[in-house]
This record gives sequence, structure tokens and C-alpha cells, in this order.
Amino acid sequence: MDLTWHAFQRLGAYAAAELLGRSGPSEIAEPDLGTLAGMIAEHAQMAGMAEKGGRGWAWLLQLAPMFPQAPPTHPSRVKALRRIDERVVEFLMEPDDPGSATPCWACGRPATPRWSKSLWPLAEPAREINNSRDRLPGVPVCRWCRVAVWCLPYAVAFSRGRIIHVESTDEVEEAWARSNTRLSLEAIRDGWADWAEGTDPFHTVWDVIRPSGSGVLISSWVNDNRPVKTRMTRWQLSAAGSAWLIVALERGYGPLLEQLARVRPRCTHLLFLAMQDDEELWDRVGAMPSPGPYLPLISALRAAYQDPSMSAVEAALPPRLLS
Ligand SMILES: [Zn+2]
Repeated sequence: MDLTWHAFQRLGAYAAAELLGRSGPSEIAEPDLGTLAGMIAEHAQMAGMAEKGGRGWAWLLQLAPMFPQAPPTHPSRVKALRRIDERVVEFLMEPDDPGSATPCWACGRPATPRWSKSLWPLAEPAREINNSRDRLPGVPVCRWCRVAVWCLPYAVAFSRGRIIHVESTDEVEEAWARSNTRLSLEAIRDGWADWAEGTDPFHTVWDVIRPSGSGVLISSWVNDNRPVKTRMTRWQLSAAGSAWLIVALERGYGPLLEQLARVRPRCTHLLFLAMQDDEELWDRVGAMPSPGPYLPLISALRAAYQDPSMSAVEAALPPRLLS
């Protein structure tokens, strides 16, 4: 399975590798697509037939914000004449005509079916043809990418009705997708009725970027009918911000950072402090009763944004925790 320009396809490909127990997407061959489609369909069937709040409902909560009008989530799913799993396998495995003149929008292979937002999250709705290059509804998607994007639910996090995904280096995206896939499989296997309270996806983000100090783009969204601008929230953490947070934590500044987080509205995780070198944070620190201990931290953050190397941050941050 190739990795393409589309983040949903890449995250799905890493999830597929985890689902099959492979070392990476390059180890996934064409016969594996049927195996993956079977797993996806079986889990979709379980979720679609779950009772609200009952066993297996967590997986429906995960699928609903991504594929709201698809067979496993459609309001009429329980009364539908055909089984959910049959229909899922059918649209995932529909053959592509090798002579098709329409290349898959993600990978470029010949593709036959065209998918819109009900099957590919956040793609254009079927009725929107103005933005379509060939003035036809939806986008052509090959079998490989259809299966990959339906592996996406395993690779992402669910928080308060929203989906959270990350875009970063290959290593970070793979670690994020695999970690979430292991959790998803646990939820499915044990029939979770809900996602555990207090599971903060930003902890997982930090766990996967900390080893490399990479930057990351985090997106939170629901695949509903609002315009993309209003249904998606994004946060950008640069490598400079990561470097600053890593060095500060290594040097024992954790408790000070925790206090600093409290002066910032909606700061649910320390990595929000590192998102940008902003004047607002300076102003809030300046207004604190004793800003002294925090100033070296903020200076080091500024230094990081001027020179995002670990050594620049280390030089700017006193090597021991201030008393
Ligand atoms: Zn493709």
C-alpha cells in the first residue's frame, strides 16, 4: 500500500499495517485488501446494530462523525433490507477498470467508483460539482485508497463528538495511527459502550512527538454539512515549540509549566503553551503577582522561535529548576 499526499489515506495505511500485524504499509499486498475489508465490515456491522449506550456503541460514536450517512451510521441502518457488512464489502471492493481514464485522486491508479463526503470524510458533497475538475460528482477513488480511508477511524482519536487527527513526519503519523489503532481494537474487542472519560488525545500527540521533537498539525473536526472553516479547528505546533517543551520538561520545569498553563484560557495540555511565541502569553505572565520564575521559560520559548535547535533552547533556559 503506497503512501499518498492525502493525510487520511496515510493514517489509514498505517492503521491497516497495525490491523494486519505488518511492519509497514509497504508490506500490504493486493490480497490483503479483502482481509481488511472483511475486518472493517465486521466491526461496522457490530457498531451499526449496537443499541444506544449499549455494548459496542463506542465504535458507532467513532464512525458517526466521519461517515454520517454511510451504511453503518445511517439513521435507517437497523431497518435496512441488506446487512451492513455486505454493503461495506461491496463498496470497498468494487473492482476498478484497469483501462479507466480517471486516476484515483489520492494515488493516481486507475479508479472506477466516485466517492463524495459520505464515504470520504470532508470531500465535496455529491451535489457540489463546481469544484470538480471533470464536472462530475465526487472524486474517483481506487480500491486501495477506499480500503485505506475506511481504516482511518482506527487511526484517529475521538473526543467529545469530534475526530482528531495529526499531520507530521512519517514517524509521528505512524506512531499516532498505530497507538490509536491498538486502542480502537481494544474498544471493539471489549465492546466498549463509550470512550473512557478523561482520555485526552493531546497526551497521545505529545507521546508521539516527544521522541523526535517534530512539529505537528492537529485538526479536530466533524464531517457534517457546515463549511470546512467552521467545522474544523486546527492547531500548529512547530519543531521550535516542541524543542522548547522537551528541554523545559527535561530540566524539571514541569511544575512551573503546569502553573503557566493555568494562566492561558483553554489550555488543556502543556503543548498548547508551545504553539506559538505570542504576546498574549507575555502579557499574562507580566500581570502575574510574581512573574520572575516564569520569565526564563518565556525567554527560552522566544529563543526557540528564533533558532529552533535544541542547543539554542538549552542555552536560553537555566539548567536547573529555580527554587
Ligand atoms: Zn488510490
